[in-house]
Amino acid sequence: MRQSRFPLRINVGFVLSLPLGDSRDVPFEFSKIILSPELEMSDFKGQTRFGRARQGILLQGDFEAWINQECTRCLEPFPYRISTHVEELYALDERNVTESGLILPQDGNIDLAPIVREYLTMEIPIQPICKPDCKGLCPECGQNLNQGICSHRQAA
Ligand SMILES: [Zn+2]
Ligand SMILES: [Zn+2]
Repeated sequence: MRQSRFPLRINVGFVLSLPLGDSRDVPFEFSKIILSPELEMSDFKGQTRFGRARQGILLQGDFEAWINQECTRCLEPFPYRISTHVEELYALDERNVTESGLILPQDGNIDLAPIVREYLTMEIPIQPICKPDCKGLCPECGQNLNQGICSHRQAA
């Protein structure tokens, strides 16, 4: 199944008609979703809340997903879970805009993808390891020492 071009796009215009302080919850769920080449995710889940604030619409969201990583010690691929919490204001006008620069478009259509991509990308480890005690590879023969020791290691 092909991913829609804007899987995280949602029209939140209706939130503006809610009383101040009121909110609506919107869940997102995708078995596969790609937000960037580094962010090919599976089991993506998002729990979002859109609240009516005086200055605009307040997004509060929790997002989690699994990505494939390659261990920097043993080079084996392994699944890694990333998660993040997002709080952003989509301002009604320039005067209320926060440093994120998000403004609610006239038509109420917002795309959460850039924000979610930015937050989740920060959760990707720089030097991923498959497990804290990964033994890595033998520097001489390349044997994955998690799977068994080689003659070099036995002699050591
Ligand atoms: Zn490893
Ligand atoms: Zn070896």
